[in-house]
Amino acid sequence: MCAVHLASFLLVALLSASSHLLVAGSHQDQEFHGAAGSRIHLQNPHKHVVHCSRERSRAAWEAIDEYLMPFVEKEKYELPSKCRLRPDNDMFREQEQHKIHFDINEWRCGFCKKAFRAEKFLDQHFENRHNNLLDNSEGRCLADLCGALHCDLMMEFKKPKSKCSAAAAVRNRHLCESLADSCFPINQGLAASHLHEFFLRQFCDAHTCDRGAKPFPKGGRVSKFLHRSCVPYALMLMLFQVITNEATSDRCNL
Ligand SMILES: [Zn+2]
Repeated sequence: MCAVHLASFLLVALLSASSHLLVAGSHQDQEFHGAAGSRIHLQNPHKHVVHCSRERSRAAWEAIDEYLMPFVEKEKYELPSKCRLRPDNDMFREQEQHKIHFDINEWRCGFCKKAFRAEKFLDQHFENRHNNLLDNSEGRCLADLCGALHCDLMMEFKKPKSKCSAAAAVRNRHLCESLADSCFPINQGLAASHLHEFFLRQFCDAHTCDRGAKPFPKGGRVSKFLHRSCVPYALMLMLFQVITNEATSDRCNL
């Protein structure tokens, strides 16, 4: 194939992939903006009613997985069963683990293998078809812990910062400290004691109206932002390499 034609074809493919990425991103943002409260109420009386936001539970789980679990694993510590941060205390965990993400526009249900073009449609499918699998018992709604776990930050809300509420900061800090006490009881050994201290610094200290305090000062796994920004650049680099190689081999064939 002529190098010029190949280059145009690859560039068109790249632009199309980028636009899909942007569209997917904006859909995700809209979805996140729609989920304002941690509680949702479904109108259809025939549905299994779940009063817990899946989106906010997912954000809470992401905060735990990214900014807490690497440190828990490093200490080889097992979270006690009464700890609400345990994966099996998240009512959506089993469904979330049955999401198969083949491609940017292809999601599959791990229970029945049905395919969807966006994650939000798979979420709706879980709600319509597989909600009988949810154990909606007390204390299994991770979204209820969002105040402590900085879910809004995880959901990358772009809205301008509202004025800090001292009362909300105190409430969130209290919830945060109670999680530290139940998940890392200081009388349960050295690892629990280390992690108790760590949890206060990583999650709880930022619940203040003091602008200097930022959540997650100890870092986490590889940042999602970094991952998102690197993938398109890596793709672009690979395409240019292919184009250059093809152009060189065309020149050699002349
Ligand atoms: Zn299914």
